[in-house]
Amino acid sequence: MSIEGNDLQLLIKTADFAAKKHSFQRRKDPQKSPYINHPIGVANILAQEAGVTDISVLQAAILHDTVEDTETSFEELTLIFGQKVCGIVKECTDDKTLPKAERKEKQVETVSKKSREAKLVKLADKLYNLRDMNRATPERWSEDRVREYFIWAKRVTGQIEGVNETLEKELKDIYASRNI
Ligand code: NDP
Ligand code: ZN
Repeated sequence: MSIEGNDLQLLIKTADFAAKKHSFQRRKDPQKSPYINHPIGVANILAQEAGVTDISVLQAAILHDTVEDTETSFEELTLIFGQKVCGIVKECTDDKTLPKAERKEKQVETVSKKSREAKLVKLADKLYNLRDMNRATPERWSEDRVREYFIWAKRVTGQIEGVNETLEKELKDIYASRNI
């Protein structure tokens, strides 16, 4: 396989790859939406709202949960999409061998050291998830759990400043809507 091709072909190829990888997964909302809605939506926030035109960032957004949540390796991503895209995905991938609480703290501690490209994906990822939770509470989640998620997300995204005015403002507003 090759990483050649124009931007449109590359984006479609990336969406096709992610759709196949996530095809048996569902989101946690009561409607059990297809999981692929999320990575596509994260890329869409970056393209439509944040004004991102860097194809590698848009591809990384589409791929950002493939290694964490599906049978995908970094080697596979490098081979198909190249080192730059794979590098951004790597920066956005949690180490699942760590216990969940530790993983969550690690996000707070490490996000400020990440590349600008990875920070953009992280901001859009959190914004998408927070909007999703405001749209519909995840199944079997209490209001307290949703609130805790917002508080944690703010601790993560609060470490990022001056990367994208629109995303940072949207996040500020969504936290404020819950008095966080
Ligand atoms: P999880 O990590 O379990 O779930 C949130 C993640 O699920 C998101 O980051 C997102 O990840 C993914 N996701 C899938 N569907 C949706 C959706 N519809 N809307 C938003 N996100 C979705 O959450 P936490 O462990 O962070 O739970 C929040 C808080 O609740 C924690 O801070 C913890 O203290 C507490 N908690 C309470 C429990 C309980 O009451 N039983 C148990 C565990 C935690 P992605 O972007 O990767 O898809
Ligand atoms: Zn995600």
